[in-house]
Amino acid sequence: MIPYQIIEKKSQGLPLTDSEIEEFIMAYTNGTIPDYQMSALLMAIFIKGMTTEETLSLTKVMLESGERMDFNSAPGFVADKHSTGGVGDKVSILLAPILAVLGIHIPMISGRGLGHSGGTLDKLESIPGFNVNLELDDWQQMVIKEHVGLIGQTGNICPADKKIYALRDVTATVRSIPLISASIMSKKIAEGIQGLVLDVKTGNGAFMQTAEDSRALANSLVSIGKGYGIKTTALITDMNQPLGSAIGNWFEMEESVRGLQGNGPADLMDVTYALGAEILKMSNPDLSQEAAIDLQAKTVADGSAFEKLKRITELQGGDPGVLDNLSSYPKAKYSGAIQTPESGYLAQVDTMALGFAGIQLGAGRRKITDAIDYSSGMYIHSRIGDSVNSGDDILTVYSNDEKSLNEVLARGGEFFSIEQSSPEIPPLILERIE
Ligand code: URA
Repeated sequence: MIPYQIIEKKSQGLPLTDSEIEEFIMAYTNGTIPDYQMSALLMAIFIKGMTTEETLSLTKVMLESGERMDFNSAPGFVADKHSTGGVGDKVSILLAPILAVLGIHIPMISGRGLGHSGGTLDKLESIPGFNVNLELDDWQQMVIKEHVGLIGQTGNICPADKKIYALRDVTATVRSIPLISASIMSKKIAEGIQGLVLDVKTGNGAFMQTAEDSRALANSLVSIGKGYGIKTTALITDMNQPLGSAIGNWFEMEESVRGLQGNGPADLMDVTYALGAEILKMSNPDLSQEAAIDLQAKTVADGSAFEKLKRITELQGGDPGVLDNLSSYPKAKYSGAIQTPESGYLAQVDTMALGFAGIQLGAGRRKITDAIDYSSGMYIHSRIGDSVNSGDDILTVYSNDEKSLNEVLARGGEFFSIEQSSPEIPPLILERIE
């Protein structure tokens, strides 16, 4: 195999064969092909796309590059939820304990921040001591016993995706239907699950910005899942503004805790319950939508879901005390606010720009090796359609890096547009794909 020829073939838009995909990906995973050639192939795929067969083949290679879990000994339904990524999307942190309390086994393998979007692992690691790198055996035992375990990809699970994911994050090759499909589905299939719900984000803070692209991604993900015998559905949900008001790792952890304590923002709780209902109905087809939502709301109202999050935290080496005492968490050294430039209605939020502003503040990585500042982030104070007054704070930002904070503050009104008439409010859940 000559890597140059495969890159050249894809750059001309020609489909690659199964063996070309397998050889290239495995050679990269084993270190024979360098980052620069993999980056070139990723960019060619990003621009020219892949056929359904190529996407399936890529998924299979990534899946078979590592181990597949087996939860046959777990009594009950084994399922997971996965999001295609957005800004302020902390649903997994709420949903995993809620579903675990309701008896679903959740072997959740999550990712780190990717491009402008945050990652569940980074959010969990904002809890002092929280270990997302459990030994696979320990994690499996935890899922069987506690119904949930939250880890990142180990070197053993889809190592090909692990390496490529990190490269895509810094080479602007994330927004590609075949690359996202293979990346997500290889990990989900490796988990050994029976059911999967996908949260496919759409809008200006999502990788897929139009309903059409999001639908295409949802269909691609659902058909791969079904092809592997997994009950799979997808909800297309809005990402034209952050979900909830907190953006940034600890900020999102804190908002998740408040959600599990019954004080979550309505949009966050609605999306969480809608996704959870998909899994509960897969495990019990007689359950109505209302009953599925009710069951979840009860785990929040009676405190059992929050207790579960603390139990997970403790078992994974984290400090549950900080979840009970949110104000004890270290604060960023610097903070400031952006004010609404004029009175009117909040009509648009540049959600992707907010995601990248989060990276600038220290909440994400500019390059693979960057460390994250968990205390940096922001709160958005208004939602699309809210009436706003000139001079009111619309965004509060926090960072330990004064220069970056000032750069974000200086961009001021760039993130928002205000109109004089009440704008159309984007629906939170646009479509369900089965
Ligand atoms: N999440 C993933 O796991 N992979 C992607 O490519 C995008 C979101």
